[in-house]
Amino acid sequence: MREIRDTVILGSGCAGLTAAIYTARAGLKPLVLEGHEPGGQLSITTLVENFPGFPDGILGPELIDNMKKQAERFGATFELAHLNKVDLGARPIKLHTPAGEISTRTLIVASGASARWLGLKSEQALIGHGVSSCATCDGFFFRGKEIAVVGGGDSAMEEALFLTRFASKVTLLHRRESFRASKIMLERAMAHPNIELRTNTVVEEVLGLEEKEVKGLRLKDVKTGVECELKISGLFLGIGHEPNAKMFAGQMDLDGDGYIKTTGNVLTTHKGAVIPGVFACGDVQDRRYRQAITAAGSGCMAALEAEKYLEEHGR
Ligand code: NDP
Repeated sequence: MREIRDTVILGSGCAGLTAAIYTARAGLKPLVLEGHEPGGQLSITTLVENFPGFPDGILGPELIDNMKKQAERFGATFELAHLNKVDLGARPIKLHTPAGEISTRTLIVASGASARWLGLKSEQALIGHGVSSCATCDGFFFRGKEIAVVGGGDSAMEEALFLTRFASKVTLLHRRESFRASKIMLERAMAHPNIELRTNTVVEEVLGLEEKEVKGLRLKDVKTGVECELKISGLFLGIGHEPNAKMFAGQMDLDGDGYIKTTGNVLTTHKGAVIPGVFACGDVQDRRYRQAITAAGSGCMAALEAEKYLEEHGR
């Protein structure tokens, strides 16, 4: 059995790493469980232009790397484990990982959100064979090819714009007439000569199952019901994210979409009562802002609350 930790942080994105910097500087020697997507969403993005302090922008992976180094400098340690099971009712709190059980006095949940998929059988079967949710990871494979991006928010615009570096043409497919994307991003996409926007259009099927690589899409116009085929070699999903909080169901209050409900910014609850010593920060509890800077801010708040909780409980 390992020592009882003061603080374990679940997730190593912007929120988790900020919590790690603060709790490490407070001498709490936090253990960060990096989860299945180390570095979180910033690690698969390109230029971050709106994080204060970087007038020319900074690459997402570089920003994450800097934060990790900063946390390590003050004594934070990192493990690549993910959680199988938690017992939030136990004191100390029990975390079960494939590498064994971890006991901790406080837990900071910063497990973020993961890319959403359309849920089509053909889409799932062709992930890694032309279907992707990460333009920065896989865009390179589509040099000189025609591809499609699904979505009407900033992620879809960003992906489409980024993919024009490689693809000869990007068709942006959106299920409605109007877009959620910010004006500036939408205008950039609309103005790009290699991006074609198609609204009121949904993907019915990804073609290429037999060939084991994406050959095209069967599309449907939702207004007319008319179906057609679009020949493409790659399909990128930019349709938002799902909060990574399923493992807490039944032990923590979640909202209808599975986001962790918080009170007092970062305090978690179960049946309306605050769960002592368990805090949540970042995208797993934020359906409204979902920005790197707000994730970092809430990571700081969770760390300060954890510190206060430990002080009040004699640590
Ligand atoms: P959003 O929730 O904003 O947008 C998701 C889009 O996907 C919507 O247009 C939605 O359509 C569509 N969608 C969802 N599910 C489906 C489905 N099953 N089939 C077809 N379409 C679907 O998510 P984003 O990831 O784009 O953005 C999240 C947040 O992150 C936002 O606040 C955004 O501003 C921010 N962001 C900022 C960036 C930047 O500043 N550089 C870059 C990326 C994100 P509908 O509109 O019909 O619901």
